[in-house]
Amino acid sequence: MDDLKEYCGVFGIYSPNSDVARLTYFGLFALQHRGQESAGIAVSDRKDIVCYKDMGLVSQVFDEKILNILKGDIAIGHVRYSTTGSSTELNAQPMLVSGENPIAIAHNGNLVNSLDIKKELEEKGIKISGTVDTEVMAKKIALYYKNDILSTLLEVLPSFQGAYTMLVLTRDKLIGVRDPYGIRPLVLGKFNGSYVLSSETCGLDIIGAKFIREIEPGEIVVIDEEGIKSTTFAQPDPRLCIFELVYFARPDSKFGTRLAHEIRQEMGRILAQESPVDADLVIPIPDSGIPAAIGYAQQARIPFSEGLIKNRYVGRTFIQPDQRLRELGVRLKLNPLKEVIEGKRIVLVDDSIVRGTTSRQIVNLLREAGAKEIHMRVSSPPTSYPCFYGIDTAERGQLISAYKSIEEVRKYIGSDTLRYLSVEGLLRACRGGAESFCTACFTGDYCIPIPQDIKVTKGILE
Ligand code: SF4
Repeated sequence: MDDLKEYCGVFGIYSPNSDVARLTYFGLFALQHRGQESAGIAVSDRKDIVCYKDMGLVSQVFDEKILNILKGDIAIGHVRYSTTGSSTELNAQPMLVSGENPIAIAHNGNLVNSLDIKKELEEKGIKISGTVDTEVMAKKIALYYKNDILSTLLEVLPSFQGAYTMLVLTRDKLIGVRDPYGIRPLVLGKFNGSYVLSSETCGLDIIGAKFIREIEPGEIVVIDEEGIKSTTFAQPDPRLCIFELVYFARPDSKFGTRLAHEIRQEMGRILAQESPVDADLVIPIPDSGIPAAIGYAQQARIPFSEGLIKNRYVGRTFIQPDQRLRELGVRLKLNPLKEVIEGKRIVLVDDSIVRGTTSRQIVNLLREAGAKEIHMRVSSPPTSYPCFYGIDTAERGQLISAYKSIEEVRKYIGSDTLRYLSVEGLLRACRGGAESFCTACFTGDYCIPIPQDIKVTKGILE
């Protein structure tokens, strides 16, 4: 993993007689890997909705005092990395729209037509104060919401184009929505006879909720005192983001019946079949390269070893993603085990190369530690196209594979050889065809058309 940024995680719970804010806190804690810039929780006590959010990690934003104020029966929470809009408190989520019929929204994804919706709202005299697409979604839903939230969503959702996994909180309901492509994940769990929604199954595990099923693409679930009601609002065309399986999801989260960890090991095994090499040791770039390195080592029958020790106390929060700090960051984070590496032919495994700067520094670290040969193996195809659906893979000009051949990337990072997993190999590991996943950052095949004149990248609404 090299310079990919996280995006967002959502968690919601409908559980009268439980401490829903505290449960949401723990759910968000498990989803912290999906965003470290801001965190927030909105709670309904059936009379009103209150929301607390701030910049920072979940453990920094909330304390006992705040959780004790957030009392109610239903809650939604959000952790955020800014994928549109700048990283300010104004853009933190959940997004609360107060009024006669208050709603709060937590969203993961990116709309590709948020500028159009913003214009439409402004023409109706509605002020958009932040720069994030979630605000326009929340304000549009609030504009149409009179009595029945389901009919409101059925009316409004067709105007949202892009990736949206969304939780909506009303006074008496928890609603989960997944866009027709299901680009971002959302799972349903059961807790104490009530229901939980989470971006990943690890959010269910942490509170002891039982996984029931994934929310389907194009599905709305409404959870209230009558139980759960499912409605299909659009013809599903499932295209789960394949990067969820490559990197984003926590290794202990499940997709169907398979752990992300297991799927990543399979990627490593297929990579070893496709691109074998004679070597002494397989070393992962921690932590993202570990499962694929295990799989590669198993398949190639080459010993697996740790070779780079990660300093786990370097928080990701305050390292700003500019070039200077990124370069400093590698030495702060990783230290090679010289005695393990010296004189060895190393297979170095990571899940992706985005800008190439981190890989280059790591190869350099291993050379300095005395590695005889370094064979870089990447358990996904070259990342040549930017993501418009909620992952900050940077502008195309910053993606090294967008403008350099594999041989040029190899020269840049300084390894002896460089091989990537093929798109076919990746799909095989994920047990799906090209029609089941979004693979656009590898193939340029965007399932949701990107408006020609709009590049929905960070800052587009500013
Ligand atoms: S473009 Fe890449 S990162 Fe974005 S949704 Fe598709 S597969 Fe995921």
